[in-house]
Amino acid sequence: MLGVVGARPGRQRGFDGASIQKRVSLDSGTFWIALRMIDRKNNRPGFSPAQPAAVAEQLFLFGPDLEPVEPEVVFVRSDRARHYRLTLQRDGAAVATIPRRGSEREARRFVEQHRDWLKRARARQQTRPRAAAVWTAGAAVLWRGETQTIRPTADGGRPVVVLGADVFRLPRSEGDLRPALEAQFARLARIELPARTWELAAATGIAIKQVTIRNQRSRWGSCSARGTISLNWRLMQTPDFVRDYIIYHELSHLREMNHSARFWARVEAVCPEWRAAERWLKRHGGLAGL
Ligand SMILES: [Zn+2]
Repeated sequence: MLGVVGARPGRQRGFDGASIQKRVSLDSGTFWIALRMIDRKNNRPGFSPAQPAAVAEQLFLFGPDLEPVEPEVVFVRSDRARHYRLTLQRDGAAVATIPRRGSEREARRFVEQHRDWLKRARARQQTRPRAAAVWTAGAAVLWRGETQTIRPTADGGRPVVVLGADVFRLPRSEGDLRPALEAQFARLARIELPARTWELAAATGIAIKQVTIRNQRSRWGSCSARGTISLNWRLMQTPDFVRDYIIYHELSHLREMNHSARFWARVEAVCPEWRAAERWLKRHGGLAGL
C-alpha cells in the first residue's frame, strides 16, 4: 500500500537484512522506510530486484540513527487516492495519504483536523481484546471464526474439548490446556490449509509448488517466488472467508510481488470480500494470537 516510489534494494547499516528502502519526511525529520525481504527458500534475508525472492509483510521505520522509531504520522503519496486520508495501521503507524494533486502542507492540516480521531483510534487499538494467555476450563477461544468456551468433558475416561464440530482429545483436563490444544489446531491446519490452498490455486489458475504451515507470531502468510505459500496455523481460528482471503492474497503475490494497485486489483477480482476480511483481522486478530 505504501507506494515504494524510487525504491532501491540495498543493505543498510544497523539492519541485518536485505531491504527495499524509501525516504520519507515526517514531522520530526527524514526517515527511511525499509521493507525487509526474506528469502523463504533459504530462510535468510535476501532480495533481488530483478526477481524478488520473497515478499515480506513487515515494515520497519528507521530514524537518522537507523534505530526503529515510532512515527507520529507517515505521509505517503498515492496516485490512486482521490482525497486526503488518515488511517491507523495494525502495527500502530498512522498513515496520511496525499492524493495525486495534493500537497504535504494540506495533508498536515488534514491531520491536525483529525487529531482527536487519531487519539481515539489509538486508544481503541490499545484496548483491543487479546487472547487469554492461559487456556483453562471456561476460557474463551476463537475457533473457525466463532468464540467458543473451553469445557473439558470425558469421553470414555479421556478428557476431550469440543469446539463446534471438532473434538480434541487431551492428555489431561486441568491446568493450562493451551499447549495441547494449539498443537492439535496446528495438526489440523497441516491437513486442511494445504488442501484449501491447492483448491484455490487450481481455481485461479496460479501454479504453486508447495504449501507449508508455520507457527508465526507476526503474520498470517507469506510466499516465495518459487511458488511456496506459507500459512499461519492460526488461520484455523479465523472465519472461512478470512482464511480464503489470506490464501488469495498470497496467491496474488505470485503474480504481483508487491502491494501495488495492480496487486489489489488482482485480489479484488478473485476475492471481492477482501476488505471485510481485513476489517475482521483488524478487529479480531488479537484474539487469534496475532
Ligand atoms: Zn501482501
